[in-house]
Amino acid sequence: MFFHPASNGLIPLREKQIHPLPADVIFMGCLRVKRMATTKRKSISKKARFEVFKRDSFTCQYCGAHPPSVILHIDHIHPVAQGGGNDEDNLVTSCESCNQGKSDRSLSDIPQSLNDKAAQILEKEEQIKGYQRVLAAKRLRLEDECAEVVELYESFCEGYTLNDKAKVTVRMFIEKLGMHDVLGALERAYTNTRIRSGQEFKYFCGICWNKIREAE
Ligand SMILES: [Zn+2]
Repeated sequence: MFFHPASNGLIPLREKQIHPLPADVIFMGCLRVKRMATTKRKSISKKARFEVFKRDSFTCQYCGAHPPSVILHIDHIHPVAQGGGNDEDNLVTSCESCNQGKSDRSLSDIPQSLNDKAAQILEKEEQIKGYQRVLAAKRLRLEDECAEVVELYESFCEGYTLNDKAKVTVRMFIEKLGMHDVLGALERAYTNTRIRSGQEFKYFCGICWNKIREAE
């Protein structure tokens, strides 16, 4: 609850309302919001809905989905419950899932013009490139860590190394468990004297799989 600094804490301010308005204006604002919330939503004519769809190229303006994979809806940018109306500027084409999840989104997510859409496409490409850079760094790290596991393996099995198939498995274990657990499992497998010679790697895999199952 926010209070107007000049009101002795008597007049509640709506969240985000930061302008120092006269107390009576704020009070009227509260009354208006209360009445709007109980106002029944006016339906939008099919013609008006299709004008909005056409303006938005029959594409969900939040996620880019379009028919036939989705059915389009009309979304109120400023919600009806908060006093938003049916004027075209307040309406936007939305798929059902975006329409339902809209409460998480802010107005800045909504493309307002072709320039904004172009900027959004550019940002999307930049985000993809950024994500690819993250993946490349992760691959390099896994490669380094896998080499460390291979080194430990070679210290246990002199004259032997792991083949490519085994390395793929090791990388998967590292990804799921982290280096600490994987090195620990390898050490347990190759220092356990009860494991028959030649069965160590299988035993190591068994320890890792058990740990993965435990974590799930
Ligand atoms: Zn959508």
